[in-house]
Amino acid sequence: MKGRNLLMIPGPIEVEPEVMQVMGSPTTSHVDPNFIESFGQALEGIRQVFLAPSSQPFIVAGSGTLAMDMAAANLIEPGDRALVISTGYFGARYADILSRYGGEIDVLTAPIGGRVPLEEIEGALREKSYKLTTLTQVDTSTGVSMEVAAVAELTDSHETLLVVDGVCSVGGEELRQDEWGVDLTLTASQKAISIPPGLALLMVGPRAMEAWNTRTQPVLNYYADFGNWLPIMEAYEARQASYFATPAVNLVAALSRSLKLILQEGLEARFSRHHALGSAMQAALQALELDQVPIDPQYAANTLTAPRFPEGVDGKAFLADMKAEGVIVAGGLHPDIKSQYFRIGHMGPTSTGDLLQTLAAVEICLHQQGYPLQLGTGLAAAQREFAGR
Ligand code: PMP
Repeated sequence: MKGRNLLMIPGPIEVEPEVMQVMGSPTTSHVDPNFIESFGQALEGIRQVFLAPSSQPFIVAGSGTLAMDMAAANLIEPGDRALVISTGYFGARYADILSRYGGEIDVLTAPIGGRVPLEEIEGALREKSYKLTTLTQVDTSTGVSMEVAAVAELTDSHETLLVVDGVCSVGGEELRQDEWGVDLTLTASQKAISIPPGLALLMVGPRAMEAWNTRTQPVLNYYADFGNWLPIMEAYEARQASYFATPAVNLVAALSRSLKLILQEGLEARFSRHHALGSAMQAALQALELDQVPIDPQYAANTLTAPRFPEGVDGKAFLADMKAEGVIVAGGLHPDIKSQYFRIGHMGPTSTGDLLQTLAAVEICLHQQGYPLQLGTGLAAAQREFAGR
């Protein structure tokens, strides 16, 4: 598309034109039969995308932070103990949110770019009893992914609820909520779910619903209270309208369309496509001899990559040069290393061509700043990775 920059940040992402068409359709009443059907289909579709047939979906206007807030507000009562497994900025945010609701929080923080070892998690769970544990599947500030299935085995055997922040992963990275025993997964619309920003999405499993149901004190956040939203979700899934607070009608209709496209692609194919994008990026970084924030390539996410600027490269100028080349990438986010790295998002509809265009621009901009590279080296490595599949 002429005059358009390619948006390659880790959310919001570019979305399919079909989804934008739905977004741009005339806004309907929230009790319009077409909207009721869209909402019902979105609720059904989301169970399939999270691989969580036994869970209760909540689709609420707000961003990913609201989804984190809702999970905390409904599951924590003052004095409850929670364990936060933190691999970056969003783990730290979860500790803040849980404290607001009176939780007694312990945080296991990985070194920047590292994972929290499973033995350390097990040790903490053995030492104290926690009502819930939070885990960020992909921390967008470091590009580090965590092993959700293995952590879920530990939380299951220690009878603590596992809440997974899947904002930068659901719909891209492999996540099997029911099979793995995750109690609550949350995400937001603007990442691999592939619609514009504005929806908080939660999938709440039976044990988490039970924990909410057996609370002794009221939920301390009115808008976030599952009790206000559950009847609405149940009504729309049964193809009836109901009102608590006005739903974001265009976004919900767009979600319904995007979930259909995700399911048409197929989840296994989608996981494998994201894996291919992640592997191609890793191959390119290695060929270009670029360091990255994850301290082991095995830790690197499939949905975004976080390369470090080489010595002598001016990060601000690099980001501006990338834009001039027609590709928008993001700067750093982790407060301790913010100016030392940049982030490339590759999730949702990102194609092989988008990734190659981005790598070509990265090479040009590094070359312009005097980084010694043979143009085409990273591109060729990524191409070989794609060709080998
Ligand atoms: N968790 C993670 C892992 C995220 O990447 C983000 C957003 N980048 C959030 C939570 C917060 O989401 P939002 O910005 O939509 O509030």
